[in-house]
Amino acid sequence: MTDASRLTQLSPSLWWYRDTCNVYLWTAGERGLLIDFGSGGILDVLDRTGVREIAAIAHTHHHRDQCGGDDRAVAIGIPIWVPARERALFESTEAFWRMRRTYDSYDASSLGFTRATSIPVARTLDDHQRIEWSGGSLEILPTPGHTKGSVSLLAEIDGGAVAFSGDLIVGHGRVPTLHDLQWQYGMPDAVGAALHSVTHLAGRGPRRLLPSHGAPMDDGPGALGSLATNLRSLARLLAEIRRNRLWTTWPSSVDQPLTQVLPHLWVNSHSVANTYALVDDDGDALILDYGFPSWDHFFADQRFVAHTMDDFRAGAGLRSVRATVPSHYHDDHLAGVPWLQREHGAQAWIHDSFADIVATPERYDLPCLLPEPIRVDRVLADGDMVEHAGASLETFHMPGHTMFALGLAGTLDGVRVAYTGDNLLAGALSPLRAAAPIYRNVMRLESIRVGVERLIEHGPELLLTGHTGALEVSRQDLDEFVAWARELELVIGRLVPVPGLEDEALDPYVARFDPYRASVAAGGEVATDVVVRNHGPAAREAAVRVLTPPGWAADPAEASAVIADGGATWTTRFHITVPPTAPPGRHVLTVDVWLGGEPRGELAEMLLEVLPG
Ligand SMILES: [Zn+2]
Ligand SMILES: [Zn+2]
Ligand SMILES: [Zn+2]
Repeated sequence: MTDASRLTQLSPSLWWYRDTCNVYLWTAGERGLLIDFGSGGILDVLDRTGVREIAAIAHTHHHRDQCGGDDRAVAIGIPIWVPARERALFESTEAFWRMRRTYDSYDASSLGFTRATSIPVARTLDDHQRIEWSGGSLEILPTPGHTKGSVSLLAEIDGGAVAFSGDLIVGHGRVPTLHDLQWQYGMPDAVGAALHSVTHLAGRGPRRLLPSHGAPMDDGPGALGSLATNLRSLARLLAEIRRNRLWTTWPSSVDQPLTQVLPHLWVNSHSVANTYALVDDDGDALILDYGFPSWDHFFADQRFVAHTMDDFRAGAGLRSVRATVPSHYHDDHLAGVPWLQREHGAQAWIHDSFADIVATPERYDLPCLLPEPIRVDRVLADGDMVEHAGASLETFHMPGHTMFALGLAGTLDGVRVAYTGDNLLAGALSPLRAAAPIYRNVMRLESIRVGVERLIEHGPELLLTGHTGALEVSRQDLDEFVAWARELELVIGRLVPVPGLEDEALDPYVARFDPYRASVAAGGEVATDVVVRNHGPAAREAAVRVLTPPGWAADPAEASAVIADGGATWTTRFHITVPPTAPPGRHVLTVDVWLGGEPRGELAEMLLEVLPG
C-alpha cells in the first residue's frame, strides 16, 4: 500500500504513516527506526523523510495488522525487534499453528491473530530494558492488556517525552477493541492488566501518546487518566466472576446426588453442565444439557464419559430418553448428545441459532466447540413449543453468554420455569450473574440485556441454570440483572474507539473464513467463502484478498463490494489451488481486508490441512 497522503511529519525527527496500523519513524540523520510496520507501505514514501536506511523495526505486539508486511522488510535485511514475551509468535509461527487447538478451546484471547509464517527475530525487547538510539534511548515498558506480551516504548524525541503505546489506548479514555481485553475464558484478567499498564504508563508522564490506531494524542496524562477511569468501571462490573459460586461446592467426580426439583423434574447439579431430566409418568425423559461428568473431566481436556443416566434410572424412574435439548452450542452442554443419540435412541432438538454450528463444526472458529458433528433431528425456531411431561415450554432466542443459545419457558408441575443455560448463574455479590461478556462467543452491545428482557416476559419463578442448579428467582433479581447489563453497555460505549460502532469493537469476527478448517490433497483445489460484516451505521465498501503460501493460487485474486449497514454481511467465494509439491500438514491462509476505505490487515485466517497427494 503506497500513499504519500498517509505520511505526516509530527516533529523534526518523528514521522507517522497510517497503514493497517500506525507506523512511526524516528529519524537520526539518514537512518531511521520504525515502530511497527503494517503492510510495509512506508518503505515506498521513505524518500520524503530523508531516511535512506532503516536500522530496525520495533514491534509493540504480535498482531497481524502490526507486522503483516514484515516479509518485505526481512527480504531487504531490516532487523526485526519483538517483545520478548511474544518472540515465539514471530519466529516459530509454523510450530504455533501446528499445535494450535481450535476445538474444545477455552482460550478467549487473541493469540490466533498472529502471522501465518515465521520471520527471523534480530533481538528481543526485554521488559524494563533501555536501548540506545539517536543519542537517546528507547525504554521498554511492559504494558500487558491488549495482548499478554504487549510493550510500550518510551523515548525523548525532539525535546518531548513520548510513548509508542501500541494498542493499549486509541483515544481519550478509549481502547481499539473490547474483544482483545480477555485472556482466560470469561475472566476480566486483561482488563485488570490493562488498568495497571495504563496507570503505570501515566506515572511515567509521557506528554504525547503515539498509538497503533487512531491519531497521536498530545494530552497523554489526560487520555490515560480517563482510560483508567473507564477500565476501573469495567473491572468493577466484571467483579462477580472472581467470586464465582461455581467452585464453592465442587463435589467428587462420583458422589453426585440427584435432586428432585419438581414432581417431574430432576437434576444432577454437579455435572458440567448441570444435567436436567423431565421425566414423564411412563419414565420417558427429555434431557436438558448433557456434557462432561465433572469438572475433573472438564480439565481432562474436555473429555466426555457417559454419566448420570444410570442415576436417573435408579433414582428418577427414567426408562427411555426421547430427546435432548442443549441450551447452547458449547461442548460442556452437549458433548454427550451423540452418545445419547447412539445409546438411547434420543433425538437432538437444536435451536436454529446454532444448528449449523453443531452439525458442521469444521466451518467455525469459536470457543468450546465440539469437534464431533451432531445429527440435528429437529430444528427449534422461536415460538416452537417443547412439550413433555405435561409441560409446554416456549422456545426463544436468548443471546448474552453467546449469540448461539436458546431459552425455554413455560409451566411445569404448576411452576413457571425457564431453562436459561449460562445467561444467568447464581451470583456471589448479587443474586444473578452472567457468564458474560465472552467476546469470542459472539455478543452485541445489547445482547446480554435483550436475552434477559425476553425471559422476563415469561415471568419465570424457577431458573434451570447451566452450572448453578435450579434457582428460585424474583422479578427484582431479574430487574437488578438488567440494570447491571445496562451499566455495562454504558461503560462499553465510553471505551470503544468510535461511538456508534460498539458492535465492531466487540466482534473478533468482522471478517472470517467459512469453512475455518478444510482439508485437500496436494495438487487439488478447495473452495472457501470469506464473510465480511459491516457494523457501521452506513453502507461501507469492502475489498478482500486471500493470501496463500508461495506457489499457491487464489481465484479470484481479489474481490470488492458495498456492504449494507447495521451488521449486514457480504460473502464471496474463493477457489484455492494447492500445488502438487505442497508439503502435507497444516497451512494457514489469511484474508487481507479493506473496510470503509481503510486497510485493516489480515483480519482472519483459515487452517488448511494438505493431505499427501
Ligand atoms: Zn493489536
Ligand atoms: Zn457456555
Ligand atoms: Zn457452560
